[in-house]
Amino acid sequence: MSDIAVDVTAVRGSFRLEVKTEFSQSGATVVLGPSGAGKTTLLRAIAGLDRGVQGRVRVGSDYWLDSERGIFLPPHRRALGYVFQDGRLFSHLTVRGNLDFAERRARGKGLQFERSQILAVLAVEKLLDQPATTLSGGEIQRVAIARALLSRPQLLLMDEPLSALDIARRAEALAYIEQLPEEFGIPIIYVTHAIEEAARLAKALAVMVEGKIIASGPAQAILARLDLARYLGHFEAGAIIEGVVRGEDRAYGLTRVDIGTSTLEVPILGLTMGSQLRLRIRARDVAIAITRPDHLSIRNVIPVTIEEIAGEAGSAFAELRLLAAHQVLRARITRRSVEDLGLKPGGAAYALIKSIAVDRQLIAEGRRKGK
Ligand code: ADP
Ligand code: MG
Repeated sequence: MSDIAVDVTAVRGSFRLEVKTEFSQSGATVVLGPSGAGKTTLLRAIAGLDRGVQGRVRVGSDYWLDSERGIFLPPHRRALGYVFQDGRLFSHLTVRGNLDFAERRARGKGLQFERSQILAVLAVEKLLDQPATTLSGGEIQRVAIARALLSRPQLLLMDEPLSALDIARRAEALAYIEQLPEEFGIPIIYVTHAIEEAARLAKALAVMVEGKIIASGPAQAILARLDLARYLGHFEAGAIIEGVVRGEDRAYGLTRVDIGTSTLEVPILGLTMGSQLRLRIRARDVAIAITRPDHLSIRNVIPVTIEEIAGEAGSAFAELRLLAAHQVLRARITRRSVEDLGLKPGGAAYALIKSIAVDRQLIAEGRRKGK
């Protein structure tokens, strides 16, 4: 009973929310889905912000909602922190005023964190005396998260907290959010339409479409599924692979990462030797050859087995699922190329990888596990 169980239905006009799922008590679960999928409606149902939700919401052994038994805990009695898209700070207060307000009102029986630790992790000490109206978008969201943590939540709900930020600020804010599960051990349900954020944050991933969760499980496995591409968009589609830092080439600014069967060169320096990495490789950055090519600018060439080929009639592109030992890669190439090269499931090929993003260094997590 230590998990978070949600089994709710709600009707909003012609839209019907129908979700039955469980969220882990450890780490962040990302709910990924296109705009209009019902993500906000789901979070509002968990938070108790709307009446007329049928079903059950159980957090650990506490029932926040059980419509059959007539249980409906009002929002202020649910020990949760809610971070909205736009932060929603009190504009007439300073940052300190906003935080104090949350702390005074904290009646939750959730986790109590050291105020100093919260301020340090989210880097808000320097902002304390600023009026909320003078903060940048990224600062507003950091303060909003700090405020949510100060309310002694058992659960943190985050509704597209980065969507109002520009790309550079988004990456910066994401780095703060990434630390939260580890630093505070608090479960997070993080809602977004951006596959990038999901790939960086999620251990567990749930895909939401038209009011329902159509797939859920470990992020790596979900992101490798070709059948979900039409819901999640093709442009950002890709796979996550794990590797270990084996060495670096300082002169050329490259780090060598062992991914099991092969070694990749990643354009980054300063990673800890032996640390585990999570790499994200977009399908559109992977090309296919059937013989090992030479005289090529692409240096990352991996032998793979083609596992699956999916292509919709009418579309110029095909999606390929490739296996490099136990790791899954994805490629998006034209259907014409599939035919010309005679690619078939079970066949051998080479994946040519144009670009790799380092998603996360997992060394801290590894240490923690080892403790
Ligand atoms: P998301 O957060 O995934 O973008 P929402 O949960 O905001 O999606 O909305 C899901 C659907 O429910 C949308 O089609 C939206 O128009 C509809 N909806 C949400 N709230 C209401 C409401 N109060 N009345 C009518 N329709 C609503
Ligand atoms: Mg929304």
